[in-house]
Amino acid sequence: MDNNYFVDSDKLSEAALEKKHRLENDPSSRTDHMQYMEGMEQISSDIRERVISEMKSYDYSKYTPADVLRALRHDTCSVEDFKALLSPAAEPFLEQMAERARLETQKHFGNTVYLFTPLYIANYCENYCVYCGFNCYNDIRRMKLSMEQIEHEMKVISESGMEEILILTGESRTQSSVEYIGEACKLARKYFRLVGIEIYPVNTDEYRYLHECGVDYVTVFQETYDSDRYEQLHLLGHKRVFPYRFEAQERALMAGMRGIACSALLGLSDFRKDALASALHVYHLQRKYPHAEISLSCPRLRPIVNNEKINPLDVHEKQLCQVLCAYRIFLPFCGITVSSRESESFRNGIVKIAATKISAGVSTGIGDHESKYTGKEADEAGDEQFEINDGRSLKKMYDDMSGEGLQPVLNDYLYV
Ligand code: SF4
Repeated sequence: MDNNYFVDSDKLSEAALEKKHRLENDPSSRTDHMQYMEGMEQISSDIRERVISEMKSYDYSKYTPADVLRALRHDTCSVEDFKALLSPAAEPFLEQMAERARLETQKHFGNTVYLFTPLYIANYCENYCVYCGFNCYNDIRRMKLSMEQIEHEMKVISESGMEEILILTGESRTQSSVEYIGEACKLARKYFRLVGIEIYPVNTDEYRYLHECGVDYVTVFQETYDSDRYEQLHLLGHKRVFPYRFEAQERALMAGMRGIACSALLGLSDFRKDALASALHVYHLQRKYPHAEISLSCPRLRPIVNNEKINPLDVHEKQLCQVLCAYRIFLPFCGITVSSRESESFRNGIVKIAATKISAGVSTGIGDHESKYTGKEADEAGDEQFEINDGRSLKKMYDDMSGEGLQPVLNDYLYV
């Protein structure tokens, strides 16, 4: 790819700046975001078509309070009921929705809450997502950890008691190859019982290799399911290809992964439509792959380094709470993760209502766990992807969750 501008240079070249300007201002300079690039596997699946057509025809303004109350009376929530619960007509019924969501969560998950931590091992990225601090045109400190550094970070994290780790990279195949990620996952297997990855989407054979290296589950955020908006936000790189990204979870399941996670980044586009599409993505995958452990995340846009170009569309805590309660009522068995982008008080509340998993001891920088966990200064660290809102350590989170009457779970899966 010709967009590897960040390597060995802090400053963008004239040519790079010119290309960036063209991409931003001239849509004809961009590639077709619906066309698979060379080497991208195409699978036979109708899930994308089903999700997108449901989302496009969703007119949330037509739902009334009577539709919402009817949805809440039903034992099983249909797609139509879910649409009513996501609509503005449901906002005055948030308390009833929260109560119903709480009952569903208790029925299927008891009072457990799962804890995990993310580990960023690289922040190189070949994509130009205009809303992200790691994008290839952003002038940040780039870094990729060596295997020795990764193992050191993992040791520090595992000594805190954490048993589940989510390994993240920016999306650069050149800098963070599948083999590099695979080796990191083999190391992770030595220190953790559960290993997830959040990396660039890959083909089925590569997911199979990563699974053999010890990966249990794969998280891919679609960011937005509105393909026109997606085109305007992802201007360059492999990520620009909308269908290849959409099918990543299915390729991961075909490759034998135990679990997958889906999500939109709420605030990039119409959040009600994106929430509908995210849940329908899960719904159809669960029907096609009933054995799979499927979960949803619900991140909102956060402020990022060097980027004032994107204005998050308003998704306040009240709307986020509505979305989460609707997810829980529609998909009672689905894991729901709430990240450290959200505040301590919001996370403390939502784990008692709808969410089942939260991160702790989080750093979105590269190579700075030792400094954050022990106070010892890091020799070198890469910049953070976004600002976190809830910086509680594992111990503090564990104590707080216990104090809320919940049972924190570090792992519920044993390899025999
Ligand atoms: S959102 Fe992901 S792919 Fe896009 S620029 Fe950021 S790190 Fe890269």
